[in-house]
Amino acid sequence: KSWWTHVEMGPPDAILGVTEAFKADKNPKKINLGVGAYRDDQGKPFVLPSVKEAERQVIAANLDKEYAGIVGLPEFTKLSAKLALGENSEVIKNNRIFTTQSISGTGALRIGAEFLAKYAKTKVIYQPTPTWGNHVPIFKFTGVDVKNYRYYDKSTCGFDEAGALQDIAAIPEGSIILLHACAHNPTGVDPSKDQWKKISEIVKKRNLFVFFDMAYQGFASGNVDNDAFAVRYFLEQGHNIVLAQSFAKNMGLYGERVGAFSVVTSDADEAARVASQVKILIRPLYSNPPVHGARIASRILADPALNQQWLGDVKLMADRIISMRTQLKSLLAKEGSTRNWEHITNQIGMFCFTGINPQQVEKLIKEHSIYLTKDGRISVAGISSNNVGYLAHALHQVTK
Ligand code: PMP
Repeated sequence: KSWWTHVEMGPPDAILGVTEAFKADKNPKKINLGVGAYRDDQGKPFVLPSVKEAERQVIAANLDKEYAGIVGLPEFTKLSAKLALGENSEVIKNNRIFTTQSISGTGALRIGAEFLAKYAKTKVIYQPTPTWGNHVPIFKFTGVDVKNYRYYDKSTCGFDEAGALQDIAAIPEGSIILLHACAHNPTGVDPSKDQWKKISEIVKKRNLFVFFDMAYQGFASGNVDNDAFAVRYFLEQGHNIVLAQSFAKNMGLYGERVGAFSVVTSDADEAARVASQVKILIRPLYSNPPVHGARIASRILADPALNQQWLGDVKLMADRIISMRTQLKSLLAKEGSTRNWEHITNQIGMFCFTGINPQQVEKLIKEHSIYLTKDGRISVAGISSNNVGYLAHALHQVTK
């Protein structure tokens, strides 16, 4: 008898399932707006020119393939923290931060979850409704309980300021709150600077512990410093946060799995103690992280010329996405749509929460071969000059 007869078939991944259906479709006009990876205006994956140059330099340096330390490449983690916290960060000056390399953003979140499951005073994390699907199991699988706060307002396709502030004010003291630093996934809806200030104030009043997930620094506005506003403001306000960073989107290093997890502490001594425990958590997970992608990222962050080139590449990606939003909105108006589509351009980052219902999503897929997730989220990065007209037409057909 087999050992695994009791193992039931699990459901397919909600997002990767969309890609499978897309691949099977024979319609030449088909569009995949499911997956969150940047595409150029020809709909092709994009390797950043700065990344190509950095990789060329890494290969030319003819480095060995020895193991990195448990927490990764020291140069990379230092530069990564500096990118997030800024050039003149008091936290970095006072050495009250510990950063480890991670297996991209997912790995950073998971290390953070493991650390909090072991050391947080209250093992409950409050996440926005909705949030990135993977946030829930990442924390649950480590034993951290997941609860929610209101975030997205269906009626405006924007930020539910009143709902969010009310719910956050009711979170029990000492709990953890998850905040998307910028380019909220899946809604594309970010709080304004003023709204961030209000969130910071309530979070402080409730004595909540902040977990920032920053998977899209630079991708929202095209400027890495702008997009780090929330993280830097919270630090200025005295919140000692933890932070997950990903270089998948802003460097296009998806498959290289380059990320970082940081803990901001009250002093250098605390940082050293935290570091020792995080190492103990990572060692039995994967021993030490991969080096190639981190070497590329380090070059880009360390070399002034490459850094300038990279900032240009980031802006190019963000600008193309912003221009697709503008075109989609104006083509919908040209189609004769009388619906309010303002949110397409108000929302930011890779995703747009269109506000269409599951029946309309179904029609887009079945009748127009346009693939997206059931919640009505589209990846704006999948839109191009060639297909934006077809998309606007189809979107109008299913919503008129
Ligand atoms: N957080 C959020 C909000 C994301 O959208 C993503 C990517 N989809 C990640 C983290 C992590 O992605 P990765 O592991 O590829 O860096």
